[in-house]
Amino acid sequence: MTDTRVLVIGAGLSGLAAARRLVSSGVDTLVLEARPRVGGRTEGGHTAEGTPVELGGQWVGPTQTRMYALIEELGLETFPTYNTGQHVVQLGGSTSRLASKRGAVPKLNPFVLADLLQGMTRFKRLADQVPLDQPWTGPKARTLDSQTLETWILRNLRTRTARSYFRVATEAVFSAEAGNLSALHALFYAHSGTDFEGLLSTDRGAQQDRIVGGSIRISEATAGGLGDRILLDSPVRRIEQGAARVKVTTRSGADYQAERVIVTLPPTLAGRLEYDPILPSWRDQLTQRLPAGSVIKLYAVYDEPFWRSDGLTGQAASDRGPVKVTFDNSPPGGSPGVMMGFMEASDGRAAARLSLEERRAAAVACFVRYFGPKAATPVEYIERDWMAEEFSRGCYGAHFTPGVWSDFGSALTEPVGLVHWAGAECAPVWNGYMEGAVRPGEQAADDVVAALA
Ligand SMILES: Cc1cc2nc3c(=O)[nH]c(=O)nc-3n(C[C@H](O)[C@H](O)[C@H](O)COP(=O)(O)OP(=O)(O)OC[C@H]3O[C@@H](n4cnc5c(N)ncnc54)[C@H](O)[C@@H]3O)c2cc1C
Repeated sequence: MTDTRVLVIGAGLSGLAAARRLVSSGVDTLVLEARPRVGGRTEGGHTAEGTPVELGGQWVGPTQTRMYALIEELGLETFPTYNTGQHVVQLGGSTSRLASKRGAVPKLNPFVLADLLQGMTRFKRLADQVPLDQPWTGPKARTLDSQTLETWILRNLRTRTARSYFRVATEAVFSAEAGNLSALHALFYAHSGTDFEGLLSTDRGAQQDRIVGGSIRISEATAGGLGDRILLDSPVRRIEQGAARVKVTTRSGADYQAERVIVTLPPTLAGRLEYDPILPSWRDQLTQRLPAGSVIKLYAVYDEPFWRSDGLTGQAASDRGPVKVTFDNSPPGGSPGVMMGFMEASDGRAAARLSLEERRAAAVACFVRYFGPKAATPVEYIERDWMAEEFSRGCYGAHFTPGVWSDFGSALTEPVGLVHWAGAECAPVWNGYMEGAVRPGEQAADDVVAALA
């Protein structure tokens, strides 16, 4: 049995931030991580030529103050996402180009545009009223939490194209269909990340900046400072609470003991651990109701980012999949040309059942549809299916289904005995993002330090 004061479960950004804060407060800490690597839902990959590509989370943007501070503290640097030229927008069978500096609202016929703008204004007005600490206490919270976002779209937007735009935007932000999540959750999430338009934007939005060398460098640099306090290949199986100590057992049967435990797993995976005594019903029922989104992130690598010389940003948004959203993910020097796409929600789930070759062909066909025949012959194809990852089982994060905020919201961060909860799903601010992973990790560490004192 190994003894320490605090055990952190999971070495994603949240667990690493918690451990870093605990160690800097002089508290003996051990981190147990299931995978053979740190970073969780951020993961570093490389093209055959050695260019870093991010297989998971990657962008940072304005108001993500903890991320920018952490990047600086760790001696890392950011660079702007390529955003010069025009975006390709395909909605309702027609293709248009949108100047990248115009924000996230596409060029549409005046009737559709008016419908979309009134819908976005109405959505923003409601979102701004959602209290971030307790979303279930805001005006009309119960009504909004009793309907899906799809219901809200049907009631508040008139035109087929404006509805399509909202649905594509939902899939891009949540990797889930509008019919899968609570309208209150969508409003909370938009407010949590400032506003919906910001979540969809590059300049002045959530996709504004990237990290030189890849976002994984944040986790690797943090882990470097923690040294042998992180134990990899250590999937936790069981958490047993006594009066003053908690015993944690891994799948291989190794036992660890601590005064407090911080669990940073995505909620649905936290709910799959064994607990003794069993968790209170409200906590267990919460984790039964927080499904992960469905996403495959993929790359086609070209000798050059040819779309740039065609006046395109490399960003496309379409209501026809399976790749509905793309980005230019080339490195700072612009070579090679790295085109990134997402297969999300039902497109992602359907694609997961295809062979690698079929998925590659489907992805490349989408790139050709958006950027022309030069996209047909990538030199390399890379992908990560996050649904198939044993220690994530879907991404980007969990979405709250109808009624969950109202009936179980308070159980999200409320400790159970000596066990505390963190992770991107616990964040009032930038919920679901890397910023929203770091903040609750640090908050849980502060709570534990206070409790130990
Ligand atoms: C494809 C994709 C794109 C994204 N894009 C962005 C983006 O551009 N910007 C952004 O801000 N966010 C983005 N995100 C979201 C962001 O990556 C996550 O919100 C964040 O990384 C979550 O960190 P976390 O520490 O809360 O959870 P995780 O990273 O999931 O950490 C949990 C850790 O627990 C480990 N674990 C699981 N089970 C066990 C067990 N039984 N025992 C021990 N350890 C266990 C896991 O291996 C993992 O390391 C994206 C995510 C994905 C997947």
